Amino acid sequence: MLPKDVIKCYIKAGRIASEVREKVKGLVKEDVSILEICNFVENKIEEKGGKLAFPCNICVNDVAAHYSSSINDETVIPRNAVVKIDLGVHVDGYIADTATTVCLNHQYDGMVYAINEALKQAIKAVKPGIKNNHIGSIIQKTIERYGFKPIWNLSGHQMTRYVLHTGKSIPNVSRFGLSKIKEGEVFAIEPFLTMRSGAGEVTGLNRTYIYRFHKTHRNLNKDADKLQKLIKKRFNSLPFSKRWLNESSEKMEKAFSVILAKKSITGYPVLAERSGNIVAQAEHTVIVTKKGCLVTTL
Ligand code: MN
Ligand code: MN
Repeated sequence: MLPKDVIKCYIKAGRIASEVREKVKGLVKEDVSILEICNFVENKIEEKGGKLAFPCNICVNDVAAHYSSSINDETVIPRNAVVKIDLGVHVDGYIADTATTVCLNHQYDGMVYAINEALKQAIKAVKPGIKNNHIGSIIQKTIERYGFKPIWNLSGHQMTRYVLHTGKSIPNVSRFGLSKIKEGEVFAIEPFLTMRSGAGEVTGLNRTYIYRFHKTHRNLNKDADKLQKLIKKRFNSLPFSKRWLNESSEKMEKAFSVILAKKSITGYPVLAERSGNIVAQAEHTVIVTKKGCLVTTL
């Protein structure tokens, strides 16, 4: 089992994440600026004594993951949108990752119900010894029972200190994940679904807003060296937004493209449903205990 002080950090991160998630729901309305919502979430996390584990993701309709505002983003929440809010908090490197779907068009309320139910059933099944793909099959069956389709190429993930995605994954279908879950492991479980008529898979778009430090390259140029050093120091291996680097000066832009081209940092492109169908998501973080799991983000 994990040491007590580690569990304490996970619980604190989880409580902050869940409080902010519930608060931001009320802010998601037609014509509200997405940048404003990102700032609200990120400021609230810090106000409550947490640190940002990754940039706030706000994904509208067929966009499933990895959209976070750029520094001058003027996008607003469109009319009748289905909006996923995905946020991450860490306390001393111990991460809480949680997401919810806000539905401004009641025609899609059924999707939200189904995705929450899939997450609930998956969490119920978590215990040491269970195969990851067994959880995937529960998620798939629940989603299909309500008449929707799971997104097969997005999955839940194991987390360790300062590492958001690592080790085992928890699939959203029964096909993958032959490893077994062990006591003391920490997972983010995150089912995604779309319409039955949808492709049931996401594809990368040609836009990237979220990046992560990969490795240091020596002797680039003065500005690039400085920038990669700053990124490594400030964000460790956790994802960050270019917006957090403040200055969108020409100098910074240049240094940024150099370290990106050299793969000192890598990007997470925006992911959208391949057939353009609406996507819903729900996510909680769990610590696997002796007999089941502790949901830190409830
Ligand atoms: Mn997430
Ligand atoms: Mn996640």
